[in-house]
Amino acid sequence: MNHPLHAYLREEVLPGPFCPGCGNGLVLGALVRAIARAGHADLRKFAFVSGIGCAAWIPSPHLRADSLHVAHGRAIPTAIGVKLRRPDLNVVVVGGDGDIAGIGGNHLVHAARRNADIVVVMVNNLVYGMTGGQVGPTTPHGLPTSTTPYGNPEAPMDAAAVVAAAGANYAARWTVAHPRRLEEALHTALGKTGFRFVEALSQCPARVGGRLKMEPAVFLNWLKEWSVPLGEADRDATGDRFTVGEYTNRDRPGLVETLAGLRPKGGRDERG
Ligand code: SF4
Repeated sequence: MNHPLHAYLREEVLPGPFCPGCGNGLVLGALVRAIARAGHADLRKFAFVSGIGCAAWIPSPHLRADSLHVAHGRAIPTAIGVKLRRPDLNVVVVGGDGDIAGIGGNHLVHAARRNADIVVVMVNNLVYGMTGGQVGPTTPHGLPTSTTPYGNPEAPMDAAAVVAAAGANYAARWTVAHPRRLEEALHTALGKTGFRFVEALSQCPARVGGRLKMEPAVFLNWLKEWSVPLGEADRDATGDRFTVGEYTNRDRPGLVETLAGLRPKGGRDERG
């Protein structure tokens, strides 16, 4: 008997490249369930783009879809190019916090400002996981990493808040310990236009859990227990806890609609 999500997955690649207990499989599951709920029987109307990092392996090789694996931090501009050439496709970027908010942070901000019509799924495992667990832009203050063994001395970047402030139509953050909420956010994002950003805090047993002496299940519980709903969050009181929920949900014209409005409605195209 086939798995209900068989049509979306390349089962021949399993077991996948992730470490045992990694949260990336939970993100993959939530994404595929959201796509199925949105009414897509297969992935023919999708193009996935990813850069470098563990999370970049979520769409390729796992999804039975067209996907592009590009340079570190460059998934977003590539995805915008795909979307402008093929506006009929759902273009989805999947990447880690180092790829999306660190190396590609400038692209993230300007894609949100342009309200570019793509979905970005940022899997935040709190560090640069694939390259050894170095401190990253979203590493919580005080968390020990391979490059900050006495704890991260810096404040983390709140990527969902940055994206919302820059002009995105949708920004939300959940953890892999909130699988239904995460699926719901992805489903909402898929149903909208403009720039849509869903951050999934995820456990990295290999690079973070080992250092904190947390087994994967303990790590998963910690993500949930350390989360606080956005409406209840008082930054001063919650300190470095993870705020979860919708940062913005609006319907400004996306980049595709904005550019279509520039085309001449009739008569000669002045561009020749
Ligand atoms: S290094 Fe961390 S994020 Fe990467 S596959 Fe292993 S557990 Fe997952």
